[in-house]
Amino acid sequence: MISAEENAHREFLRELVHAAHPVWRTILAAMREGVLVVDREMTVLVQNPAAAEIFPPPPISSRPLRLIDLTRDPTLHEGFQQALEHGASVESRFELRRGEPRAFQVRIAPLHLASDTPHAALGVFVEITALERLERIRRDFFANLSHELRTPLAAILAYVETLQEIEPDDSEHMRRCLDGLFRQAQRLHALVRDITDLAEIESGAIALSLEVLPLRAFVEDVLALIQPQAEERGIAIVNEVPEAIQVLADPLRLTQILQNLLDNAVKFNRPNGHVWIRARRLGEHLEISIADTGIGIPPADQPRIFERFYRGEKSRSRETGGSGLGLAIVKHLVQLHGGEIHVRSEPGVGSEFTVRLKAVPEPKVAQGAPSTDATK
Ligand code: ADP
Repeated sequence: MISAEENAHREFLRELVHAAHPVWRTILAAMREGVLVVDREMTVLVQNPAAAEIFPPPPISSRPLRLIDLTRDPTLHEGFQQALEHGASVESRFELRRGEPRAFQVRIAPLHLASDTPHAALGVFVEITALERLERIRRDFFANLSHELRTPLAAILAYVETLQEIEPDDSEHMRRCLDGLFRQAQRLHALVRDITDLAEIESGAIALSLEVLPLRAFVEDVLALIQPQAEERGIAIVNEVPEAIQVLADPLRLTQILQNLLDNAVKFNRPNGHVWIRARRLGEHLEISIADTGIGIPPADQPRIFERFYRGEKSRSRETGGSGLGLAIVKHLVQLHGGEIHVRSEPGVGSEFTVRLKAVPEPKVAQGAPSTDATK
């Protein structure tokens, strides 16, 4: 004899699996969240496409699909068990370690049908990988920011304290403290400017105003901004951009890109080193490269230098080092132009940063018009 409750149970499951209204099936198929329903025997009754993507079912087998066929994660098994045995809802975090790790928030709830004993349990999986990544970035950002602010501020306080104690006629000592104060205030100023720039660029609030620019002359103007630092260190910057090359870019932003890259090429160069700026057209693209004879970047650092606040060992140890935001800003600005930036570098030899932008389309030669060769 099948009890009334058992009957109700079976009826419930039959409806759930077979008679599921097409509307419900469409809803389940459209959901980003993974949905799994298992019965008291841990047989899977419902697995929507999102859940099938998280837990790919094994190649077709004749027996009914069971939870153990999909996952062996003990927290999930316990969660479903708890919902089925105690009628309790469970919330947990689940990590998928197949390939790139992915994180999910999981809610498991009992499914009742006019009885106190749950007939089945429903698990909903919401992916939180991106959310957790953003949270980590946000936390790191503030940790880095307070560190970067603290260093120059501590130095400023130390200089001020020294100044308070200096004999009024010790002008030499006073001058050194004031120079130090000035340097640290400049550093703070540059940091705040970079953070403001980065925030503005990342908010997507800036609109580019694109112009066709003659690159060689443009580079010459940017070089004038860098020349004093280069001369101070005896570094020769050579503009090898061919005369004919034009670029479609926002002049203000292109200045920022080139100035940052050149500033690094000078800053991380060896005394009396060289920097070359070159450009060439590659089909629809324009490649601008800035190569130096500097200290180079260790292979392990290369993928990280475009991250906010990331600085190489040598830069970190310098008192007047930058904020580590320059390349993050450059990367964003290049991407805003629809371009890419890459680095090639060999420690002790030098580095080359290549910016790839869209080239200005060449004017089409009218059909039948004499080509330059034909006129010769
Ligand atoms: P910053 O120059 O303020 O330290 P950036 O974001 O401009 O920050 O650069 C990040 C890091 O990349 C630098 O600290 C340095 O280690 C490395 N780097 C950038 N450009 C060069 C270069 N031309 N040569 C060697 N190292 C470089």
